[in-house]
Amino acid sequence: MTKKLSKKQQDQLDQDQANSAAAISRACRPVPVELVESRTLIRQPCTVCGGCTERVRVVAEARNLDHELIVRVCEDCLRHDDIDGRLENTAFFMEANAKYVRGLKGRLVLPTYAQWEKRNDELEAEFVREQEKSVRDGDTSLPF
Ligand SMILES: [Zn+2]
Repeated sequence: MTKKLSKKQQDQLDQDQANSAAAISRACRPVPVELVESRTLIRQPCTVCGGCTERVRVVAEARNLDHELIVRVCEDCLRHDDIDGRLENTAFFMEANAKYVRGLKGRLVLPTYAQWEKRNDELEAEFVREQEKSVRDGDTSLPF
């Protein structure tokens, strides 16, 4: 026996189906990627290969109307033809990595932040003492 939906439930179902249809339509449209002048000379993540751009003046990006990044393609991916193969490879490793990361849930036995901070401070102080000693001893091989 089929239960009849209320008007509100039917409206919600219709809206969900319309949203799904719109999402599928959007998903099938081409995504034009354009060359954009980079405002900073920093390495930026590549959506296609999971790597990064070099510090370049131009990046290949697609953004939506709200200027949110949809995709960035590094120059190495542009150099190679098999973009879909690279996308599939990245998706495969992301899925495998997601399984690995989920597998760590509830298993990590961690130092506390205070322990990390204390050890980091000890090593920083040791580094500074070594640098100061080198300066006192006249070591001219230091990079600064
Ligand atoms: Zn890439």
